[in-house]
Amino acid sequence: MRRWNGWGDDGVIFPLEEAGRSFLESALGPGTVPHDAALEDTLSRVPSSRLPARRLVRTGAEERLRHARGQSFPDWVALRSGRISAFPDGVAHPATEEEVRELVALCVEEGIRLIPYGGGTSVVGHVNPVRDGGPVLTVAMDRMRSLTALDESSRLGTFQAGVQGPDLEAQLRARGLTLGHYPQSFEYSTLGGWIATRSSGQQALGYGRIEQLFAGGRMETPAGPLELPSFPASAAGPDLRELVLGSEGRLGVLTRATVRVRPLPEREEFFGLFFPSWEGAFEAAREMAQAGVRLSMLRLQDEPETRVSLLLGGSRRLTAMLERYLNLRGAGQEKCLAILGCTGTARQCREGRREALRLSRRRGGLWVGRPAGTAWLKNRFLSPYLRNTLWEKGYAVDTMETALPWSRLSGALQAIRAGLERALEGEGERTFATAHLSRVYPDGASLYVTCLFRAAEDPDGTLERWRLLKRTASLAITESGGTISHQHGVGLDHAPYLKAEKGALGLAALTGAVRALDPAGIMNPGKLLPEC
Ligand SMILES: Cc1cc2nc3c(=O)[nH]c(=O)nc-3n(C[C@H](O)[C@H](O)[C@H](O)COP(=O)(O)OP(=O)(O)OC[C@H]3O[C@@H](n4cnc5c(N)ncnc54)[C@H](O)[C@@H]3O)c2cc1C
Repeated sequence: MRRWNGWGDDGVIFPLEEAGRSFLESALGPGTVPHDAALEDTLSRVPSSRLPARRLVRTGAEERLRHARGQSFPDWVALRSGRISAFPDGVAHPATEEEVRELVALCVEEGIRLIPYGGGTSVVGHVNPVRDGGPVLTVAMDRMRSLTALDESSRLGTFQAGVQGPDLEAQLRARGLTLGHYPQSFEYSTLGGWIATRSSGQQALGYGRIEQLFAGGRMETPAGPLELPSFPASAAGPDLRELVLGSEGRLGVLTRATVRVRPLPEREEFFGLFFPSWEGAFEAAREMAQAGVRLSMLRLQDEPETRVSLLLGGSRRLTAMLERYLNLRGAGQEKCLAILGCTGTARQCREGRREALRLSRRRGGLWVGRPAGTAWLKNRFLSPYLRNTLWEKGYAVDTMETALPWSRLSGALQAIRAGLERALEGEGERTFATAHLSRVYPDGASLYVTCLFRAAEDPDGTLERWRLLKRTASLAITESGGTISHQHGVGLDHAPYLKAEKGALGLAALTGAVRALDPAGIMNPGKLLPEC
């Protein structure tokens, strides 16, 4: 069963071996085991619903608790401590477009706020009811998960928007097809959520980001249905699909989406390369991205993240042998690991790998073959479970992400890291930050920073530590000219930084679009554009 106050299935545990534990103790100090609230106690604090009985609407306490929060750091603290400031007053699980329309109409008529809910994997507070204001209905899309149309000759598949990653891929796979969109939250996140947050999959280099995969669909808005026909290209004015991408539930409920699918690849392989230093590895990554080397993934870890990967992954004996070999070949303390993926025909994979190796060798890259890639593949959706284990040992972790042009990336990373390392000094606390380039583009890359710190004795103290870290990283990002989000969206946590990116006029234009489709302001208020 899915955990109510953490990540994933409660039967899955990511163990932390002794080496990992002692590393954390030496980097941060001993952790204080938190006192998590029990489910029964938290349920007893769910207030009565403000919604009268309605068809399709459930008002049970557990249902409302399980849809009250997502996966952001403040969400975790709230769920683990049982201190949840607001709950939806009801949750509906529509099965058809007509039922979604009926629910939107109900909310319009009665002034109920409506929050579309996909998989609830948002890490920026997208699905949280905001405390002030009237009753809230969360519309969970989990019963809308079918492939409803397939145009094989155009390679267009239409799904109900609540379909989760594994289910979507299984339905396509049965027909020899794939979408290839694999965010790390794949297990639970949904097609509608991916579109509404402009999500990026781990193999976006090969398959494209969701904005390249989203061909059209339909949204039920308070002002009526918005049809988005699928054209291969169009010069008929601004593209409304771009408005729906990243709309974060502010415009309406996406009921169906047509996506660009493709045949299952003949071959897929992942492999590892070590570089003696970040500088050489960074240049190799840039050159590969700009040369258009046929890769489906390129992930480059900095030295601290490489160290942690080696510590957590595989057998100590094999890791020690690998490190001895790398040392002899010139990749010592400063070494950085890159994981590369090739997807396509056998020939395309061979060519992609050959070209990647050629460019890497010029920067000192050392091929360590498929075991490193296979280890990454095995944990690609499992590593988020480590967050549960860390929490239970008294350590907190959060991720910050941005994207910048190549010319500004290294400076931004330095500024973010320096800020994070200093942010908790006033409290006498240390932080440990690791980073990787998670997606590369010809003109830049996304930077993904993971920050570890100790939880405080009480939840408010832990949250305050996170606030300091988040503010520091967000200011370093905006001051370096990076986007406030490459893939997680805006929600609540990034909203204060959006103006730096869009400008006042840009925000006014977006506000106008929200007001046109949602004149009464009932759709997911407080997110993306809090003033609107
Ligand atoms: C462990 C972990 C790993 C992650 N890895 C990645 C990653 O690799 N790449 C990435 O891009 N993101 C990642 N994320 C963030 C998150 O998974 C994405 O933002 C995802 O797209 C959210 O999808 P969801 O279905 O869970 O949406 P939810 O969290 O349910 O909702 C997110 C927003 O979308 C809106 N929404 C959802 N469905 C609809 C709909 N049908 N119509 C209108 N609006 C809708 C909601 O109102 C809300 O504003 C990760 C999160 C976690 C917890």
